[in-house]
Amino acid sequence: MGVVFIDEDHVRINGNMVNVIEELGKNGACREADPDLFFPENTKDRTMFEAISKAKSICYQCPVVDLCLEYALRSDPYGVWGATTEADRKQIRIDRRLRRDADRQKAIRERKNIEQYGQARKPVERKASNLRTTAPEAFKKLNAERSEATNLMLS
Ligand code: SF4
Repeated sequence: MGVVFIDEDHVRINGNMVNVIEELGKNGACREADPDLFFPENTKDRTMFEAISKAKSICYQCPVVDLCLEYALRSDPYGVWGATTEADRKQIRIDRRLRRDADRQKAIRERKNIEQYGQARKPVERKASNLRTTAPEAFKKLNAERSEATNLMLS
């Protein structure tokens, strides 16, 4: 589900502006669960991990888990939200940032390829039209001519 935030607390669902906290309170699977599972004491003992794991298993059944997770990624509240702890969310943010950077790099590379192709296209098209052949054939021919010329210059 793509979640579109209007501001910190509101999203648009089916054209309607919805308050996220009210929506989670109305439809969240944790409505009647023990809040201590979702907001366990900040210790590193077994009880806390058991509570987190129980909370996450409730989230996995929750119909608004995507909304809850996106809200928590933006607001970073304390506790388990959208089947994640604060540490999980920190990792998700890092992963998303890395993915965005990789996509940006890819887009830059692709744009460069298109520009380079744009520069090489005209001579290839001219050659193809002169030889009455296809662009790949003309490209091969042009490359062969260029290497021949380079070899002549070097000899
Ligand atoms: S995803 Fe988890 S914390 Fe969020 S509303 Fe659902 S059950 Fe509650």
